[in-house]
Amino acid sequence: MITSLRLAAPACLLALSTAVPAAPPETASVAWSITEGLTTEVGQRIAGSEREAVARDWAVTRLKALGFQNVRIEPFTLRGFVRGEETARLTMPYPHALAITQLGHSVATPAGGIEAELVYFQTLDALKAAPAGSLKGKIAFINHAMKASQDGSGYGPFGDVRRAGPRIAAQKGALAAVIRSAGTDMHRNPHTGGTSFADTAPIPAGAVSLLDAELIARVASRGKPMRIALKLTGHPQDNLPSGNVLAELPGRDPSLAPILIACHLDSWDLGTGAIDDAAGCGIITAGALRAQQGGKRLRTIRVLWAGSEEIGVFGGAAYGEAHKGEPHALAMESDFGADRVWALRTSFAKSNPALHDRLVAALAPLGIVFKDEPVEGGADIGAIVAARKLPVIDLVQDGTRYFDLHHTPDDMLDMIDPVQLEQNVDAWSRVLAIVAEEKADLASGS
Ligand code: ZN
Ligand code: ZN
Repeated sequence: MITSLRLAAPACLLALSTAVPAAPPETASVAWSITEGLTTEVGQRIAGSEREAVARDWAVTRLKALGFQNVRIEPFTLRGFVRGEETARLTMPYPHALAITQLGHSVATPAGGIEAELVYFQTLDALKAAPAGSLKGKIAFINHAMKASQDGSGYGPFGDVRRAGPRIAAQKGALAAVIRSAGTDMHRNPHTGGTSFADTAPIPAGAVSLLDAELIARVASRGKPMRIALKLTGHPQDNLPSGNVLAELPGRDPSLAPILIACHLDSWDLGTGAIDDAAGCGIITAGALRAQQGGKRLRTIRVLWAGSEEIGVFGGAAYGEAHKGEPHALAMESDFGADRVWALRTSFAKSNPALHDRLVAALAPLGIVFKDEPVEGGADIGAIVAARKLPVIDLVQDGTRYFDLHHTPDDMLDMIDPVQLEQNVDAWSRVLAIVAEEKADLASGS
């Protein structure tokens, strides 16, 4: 825990935190224990790696110990990323070492690295406007600054610098692409993540820290030529083993469709994946256990700790394919850190207003408000939600500082505030206790 974060929290939040009823002792620390255990005993769990395999076995052992039934691994393979050496430095107008991380799905530089002119683009649109072939023999730098917001909405448009920037640079002939990290901190921590080249031949690509990006922007503003030396030896690799971990708390009526709740077990490798997404696995699992305190719920609650979200949502796709023929009642996901839930979105406002009202009432004491917006779901439940047209409930977490930490070396356990983590568990358990007791067909709203 970081004391300063708690001191910095708004007064209303601190007051709310103390107002949340104490959790029963047997589940009070389950979310923390899972998050602490996964990040300490397994560590980073990059998709397709030996560490992700260790994480799956760890998950099976832990879920069985917590009393879950039908605990199993559903294996699949994926195209992953093997990280290597990564260095970058400005060589002109003066030497300056840059804090860089290579992006997943990008390819290695030639042995020994490359050195070339660095062409500055203020935004992704500026890069898109560059003439065809104008980056031949050069390296593109894209400075596409993202703003923090409570709902994390900047990640959609500004995350495109990482998702699409290197591909667009490649299409203009660039030797390599370097981007400003998709993040909101001001540190020398680069934010890693996956990029995508689709049908374009991949090039080496990396993200520099926001402070390095700011420096590059100021140097570029002087109008002098810049050059960069880049060495990235990471590379994609096919047919890596991965898998989803599934577990259930069986309901009293096995004929009813289960409630699906998801997180992802894999992480990026710069930190230990505490906020992304060990905490999500801790929250949903502890929430499910607390929801059935006092006895089994009517419906089965199925927990999905998805493998390999980060490198391309392979786990969610595999789950959707394997289970598209099975009825599901509802899907929910936690993959936005460990800060408090502040809003609720549901599919039920019109289809099942009585249920909707009960959810709103159950969460109001936690200071959680109804947000009248379309539900978003999440990456890992995306395929099954689409295949079965499932209703979704979003418990929207405070994302104000999420992109300070997201995919950085600082994604570590001590950045999590245990009080806010437990508020998540409280919110999840209240929702699950209601929906898992609902006999009506949730999917049809009848
Ligand atoms: Zn995630
Ligand atoms: Zn992530």
